[in-house]
Formats: sequence, C-alpha cells, structure tokens
Amino acid sequence: MSTIFSQIVEGEIPARIVYEDESTVAFLDVNPLAPGHTLVIPKDEYERLNDVPEDIATDLYATVHRLVPAVEEAVDADATTVAFNNGEAAGQEVPHVHCHLVPRFAGDGGGPIHAIAGDQPDLADDELDTIAEEIETRA
Ligand code: AMP
Repeated sequence: MSTIFSQIVEGEIPARIVYEDESTVAFLDVNPLAPGHTLVIPKDEYERLNDVPEDIATDLYATVHRLVPAVEEAVDADATTVAFNNGEAAGQEVPHVHCHLVPRFAGDGGGPIHAIAGDQPDLADDELDTIAEEIETRA
C-alpha cells in the first residue's frame, strides 16, 4: 500500500503543494508546528534516508536549498529548523522520506535541535575515539 505522501504525489489526496519538479515535491504540513511548516519529499517512495539513491538525494537537497529562503521570506521567519526524522525510533511516522522545514521566530518558545534527544550521554575520550573510528571506517 502506498504512503499518504505517495497519494499526494499521485493527486489522490489534496495538499497545498508549493513546489514540484521531476523527482521532488514540497507541500505544507497539515499539522504545522509554525506558519509555513513545509515538507520536502522525493516523489518515489523510500522509507529511510539511506534508501534514497544518490541522484535523488542530490535533487532532494537542491529542493531543500531552494525552499528554505522561499519559506522564510513567505512567512517573514528569522530562521528555520531543518530536520529529518529518520526511522521510527527517531519519531518518523510516515515511512516516506521527508524533510521538515520549520520556520522559526525569535522568542517562539521552541528549542534547538539539541532539545529533541533524550538524556545526553557522558562519553569518555576513548569512547569518543572509538565511535569516531567506527564511523570513519564506514564513511
Ligand atoms: P514525521 O513524524 O517526521 O513522520 O512527520 C510526518 C508529518 O507529516 C507530520 O508533521 C504530519 O503533520 C504530516 N502529515 C501527515 N499527513 C499529512 C498530509 N496528508 N498532508 C500534509 N502533511 C501531513
């Protein structure tokens, strides 16, 4: 069964589409965290960031790059929080990659990206070195 976002791409359910090209589309979030809260998605259905082919990932970032200033200007925002919830444990509810563009305003009561994770770990230097190595060997 296709995701709700694929149904938007197919025109089967309505959305306030603000941008569309061959491989990506952007539309207003139906339950906005701020005026102008926009979602940018690849038209094809991929559940997680790593599932997105490289060329489509490039297109996706190009659309994010294009939309950030458009959204900020449209709602006169001071800044934007740009985020992917990548996987269920990270809060992803719709299994179709989507980038949230959440306009931010001075004094809007929101927090920085650091506010979303759980308890911060207390990592020793050797643990940080090991983690860095583990990532580096896979990158
Ligand atoms: P996430 O928790 O990262 O998966 O975010 C899913 C987002 O999709 C939420 O912010 C929802 O408000 C939004 N959403 C769900 N259904 C629709 C829809 N039909 N049109 C626009 N946005 C939607």
